[in-house]
Amino acid sequence: MTRVALNILTVIILLLSRCCDANRKLLVFLIDGFRYDYMDDLQNLAGFREIVENGVKVDYLTPDFPSLSYPNYYSLMTGRHCEVHQMTGNYMWDKDTMKEFLIGTNPDSRLPMWWDGSEPLWVTMQKLGKRVYMYYWPGCEVTILGVQPAFCEEYVYNPSEKNLIDSMESALNMLKSDKADMAGIYYEKIDVEGHHFGPHSPEIQRAIRSLDQAFQTLNQKIKEKNMRDDINVVLFSDHGMTDLKWMEKVIELDNYIDMTYIIKMMDRGPVVSLWPKQDKFEEIYQNLSTVDNMNVYKKQEIPDRFHYKNGRFVSTLTLVAEPGWFITENKAKLPFWKNGTEEAEGWQHGWHGYDNEFMDMRGFFLAQGPDFKTNFRAGPIRTVDVYNVLCKTLGIEPLPNNGSWSRVECMMRSSAGAVRAALIYSCLLPLLLLTL
Ligand SMILES: [Zn+2]
Repeated sequence: MTRVALNILTVIILLLSRCCDANRKLLVFLIDGFRYDYMDDLQNLAGFREIVENGVKVDYLTPDFPSLSYPNYYSLMTGRHCEVHQMTGNYMWDKDTMKEFLIGTNPDSRLPMWWDGSEPLWVTMQKLGKRVYMYYWPGCEVTILGVQPAFCEEYVYNPSEKNLIDSMESALNMLKSDKADMAGIYYEKIDVEGHHFGPHSPEIQRAIRSLDQAFQTLNQKIKEKNMRDDINVVLFSDHGMTDLKWMEKVIELDNYIDMTYIIKMMDRGPVVSLWPKQDKFEEIYQNLSTVDNMNVYKKQEIPDRFHYKNGRFVSTLTLVAEPGWFITENKAKLPFWKNGTEEAEGWQHGWHGYDNEFMDMRGFFLAQGPDFKTNFRAGPIRTVDVYNVLCKTLGIEPLPNNGSWSRVECMMRSSAGAVRAALIYSCLLPLLLLTL
């Protein structure tokens, strides 16, 4: 009798542990520049609507500062703030080696020093003997801490809708056939159209509708392949987008300072990094302090809430524009952007990078699958919170990070499942003990 009871108890414990630690497959979408409110018109977005009804939607996702791409790509995949993971800009400069990190494809941008500040999730997965497939994901081509993903379709500028659909098909097949445990797909079009035409343009509406079509296809493929119970899908963006008015709100630095006193200037727009000559530092700082519509910070004066100032590549002076303003050396030195046409129009209509608490900088987060509640609307979360969610669905232990589990726990089915399992367990255990 005792042996039978023990056997039953063992089976129950095994079942319970299986239910709570299920290692399901994970498909992740990084949709560049998708603002939190772009999907407000859910009635006309059947793909998004189905995901929302089947899963979790948060009110918005607050990016890390600066609300730019690379810093947030890394915050999403490490759960750490920029000053911790060290990816503090789309353009960075290391004054010791004089090397530059530049957004896009640039050989020096692959140097380990930019990437090795923290271990992204895909590297941890590979180290654990699991396999990650990545499609157009910026950085998947880089060897980070000595590791590369099992597969990397290298980043190209603005992957097409066909690229997106093909990536989805390939990722689902790899996950289904156990060749991959996790897959990540990057899509840039929403950011590109937002920059070219602005967040309220017909062009951005068209791009959102076409992305929605792709998600309808995704939902269809998951059903056709009978994968609904085996795969979690998590979708998010790195930041939002705000309007830029044609040349109206530009701060030209050469009106205020002598640019020959600047050893190095990185980036232009909402956040600019300056390294003035040491003997001119105070003079430059004082002059820039008088400029309207922007703040100038010495490194240690940068607000703590930005979680930025302790970054290894942060400049000695950081300029941060008020929303809608654009900082540059001189308008005449700006490139003539083509805005998707072959005409050089000279200006863009949308930008991001501002104070991360500015509403327009907020991104989105959606999730569906067996580990997530259905039709569940959650409050706002932050970019650094996403990592813990991803680790949970993969059944791996998160590395130390800056995310808050309490902000995301509510969306997981396991929080309710674990309680249910504990209740069953506590009911059955006394019965079993009686039979001993
Ligand atoms: Zn952008």
